[in-house]
Amino acid sequence: MSAPKVKVPFLDLHAHHTPLREELRQAIDRVIDANAFAGGPFVAAFEKDWAEFCGSRYAIGVGNGTDAIWLCLLALGVGPGDEVITVPSTFMATAEAVSFCGARPVFVDIDPVTYTMDPAQLAKAITRRTKAIIPVHLFGQPADMDPILDIARRHGIPVVEDACQAHGASYKGRKAGTMGIAGCFSFYPGKNLGAFGEAGAVVTDDAKLASRIQTLRDHGQSRKYHHEYIGWNARMDGIQGAVLQVKLRRLAAANEARRAHARLYDQLLADVEDVIPPVEAPDRTHVYHVYAVRVPQRDRVLQMLAERGIMCGIHYPIPVHRQHAYQHLGYADGSFPVAEQCAREFLSLPMYPELHRDQIELVVTELRACLAELRPDVHACAM
Ligand SMILES: *Cc1c(COP(=O)(O)O)cnc(C)c1O
Repeated sequence: MSAPKVKVPFLDLHAHHTPLREELRQAIDRVIDANAFAGGPFVAAFEKDWAEFCGSRYAIGVGNGTDAIWLCLLALGVGPGDEVITVPSTFMATAEAVSFCGARPVFVDIDPVTYTMDPAQLAKAITRRTKAIIPVHLFGQPADMDPILDIARRHGIPVVEDACQAHGASYKGRKAGTMGIAGCFSFYPGKNLGAFGEAGAVVTDDAKLASRIQTLRDHGQSRKYHHEYIGWNARMDGIQGAVLQVKLRRLAAANEARRAHARLYDQLLADVEDVIPPVEAPDRTHVYHVYAVRVPQRDRVLQMLAERGIMCGIHYPIPVHRQHAYQHLGYADGSFPVAEQCAREFLSLPMYPELHRDQIELVVTELRACLAELRPDVHACAM
């Protein structure tokens, strides 16, 4: 059988870039004319705009989101013997950044409604060795920051936000990335703000932390060939800075479009049996990097939808504590029941700003049909 025709792609970057094509080409030309390819003025200009968009004092452009988290932890002095608390429902990078400091990731379960760090679980996981806490604003919805910051403050532990999926999201009027000591962003092409390759940034109001990350991303040099620390090469490319500066001007409108699509999905899914739609907490603005529903028999639903031309994703099929790479941490199956159940049920529906109303309607119609077809099995399974 030939591959079915794609009716609704999971993501459509072409649709996003087409109207910006000329502006992006001119921005890239300026970088070529200036020979400013590694770091430099185009990165600095974007850093200024990104700090302003977030409402933070400093933004430091780096190679990618993983670098952002890693350098931020290094700059905070996280190292061997330390523990860093995060969640298992995230992309691998959050925990990897901890491990690459020589520290140990410690996981706590997520809240079953918002899918972000459960503050009650956090309180129980803190030890003398806890050196940082990394809540993840999963899918674009900020974690419940007030209780998290409160617990952290009582223990004198810094909070680093993994805002890699939450560009422009907010919590009680505060922007994602600006509530902890620092916020980390990824500009991977598919993120709400995406580069033409790899890029990331840290935002912070802390001058010392900012300067330390600036130094670390450039081989630990404070002046050329004067290396204060052992750092790394984690600079942002000039071309990425220029492209991001153009694309940033559309971010707020693109997030609004995602939010409108989410409202339509919510409305159409309200009476679909067996589907749990995402919930936007009343004190938060979700930017729907991912619109993830929960469904029974998720893998079969994913495949049936693909056969009908509806392309979905899974974020993420294996929680981080159950990854082979983290076997040595010794977390058994069942350690984090909410994260594990979500990993079995999450299905990410097509979501990007340029989606059309009729495409969203088609996604829901087809999802309804797939679930109806599976329903005898679903209920047999439940018995
Ligand atoms: C994308 C992402 C990262 C890593 O960003 P990269 O730019 O791919 O290195 C980290 N954490 C989360 C939650 C992400 O979604």
